[in-house]
Amino acid sequence: MTTNSDPQELAKFGDLAHRWWDPDGEFRPLHQINPLRLDWIDGFARLSGKTVVDVGCGGGILAESMALRGAQVLGIDLSVKPLKVAQLHALEAAVSGLSYREVAVEALAAERPGGFDVVSCMEMLEHVPDPSSVVQACFTLVKPGGWVFFSTINRNAKAFLMAIVGAEHVLKLLPKGTHEYARFIRPSELTRWAREAGLEPMQFKGMEYNPLTRRYRLSADTSVNYLLACQRPA
Ligand code: SAH
Repeated sequence: MTTNSDPQELAKFGDLAHRWWDPDGEFRPLHQINPLRLDWIDGFARLSGKTVVDVGCGGGILAESMALRGAQVLGIDLSVKPLKVAQLHALEAAVSGLSYREVAVEALAAERPGGFDVVSCMEMLEHVPDPSSVVQACFTLVKPGGWVFFSTINRNAKAFLMAIVGAEHVLKLLPKGTHEYARFIRPSELTRWAREAGLEPMQFKGMEYNPLTRRYRLSADTSVNYLLACQRPA
């Protein structure tokens, strides 16, 4: 069986894995947006006591923070080094209720349909060959009435300028080659995949970066980075 993954993408994250938890390193943007997305997710899903799968968890920035809010979290990824870094960090920080596994989301969905209260899949869809298959698997993994959260990057001229030219070349917030424009996803496309899978899109939020204050904030502007909260009908 072929997996829905791109070896070059997985290698890119593998090569940088040792830098994952440096708050001023290549993954600084993920560290900066984490409190915003964590609060946003917690506001819908009430994480404490819930079971969560974090799809494309990488080095575990979001997964670990959800466990610290009292959720039982499984982080999955197909890049081995980030998973090892995530495991080590959880061990060092003595975080309970957190485990990691190298498994494709489609395979886990076949194994544990309806197995989780909450599914998160952040900054991952724009790195896979068939993102609609990931959305479908996220639906399968969540219980009826449960929440699924996505975040990705919009595809338009402004997103190209901000997310690739600005972030990778001018401000150097991200390493060059982190993102490929053609893989960016319009909110209309994500909405369609979610609906086709059986999910109900509930809320879009924009994530805006201010280069002067060097801070992110959540807003109504989904033209570049954005989040989508979905619910599986009960
Ligand atoms: N979700 C994390 C990490 C985002 S970086 C966060 O937001 O903090 C993107 C992650 O997606 C990387 O860890 C990469 O290895 C992972 N990824 C890319 N393609 C994947 C695939 N096909 N299956 C699972 N994970 C994948």
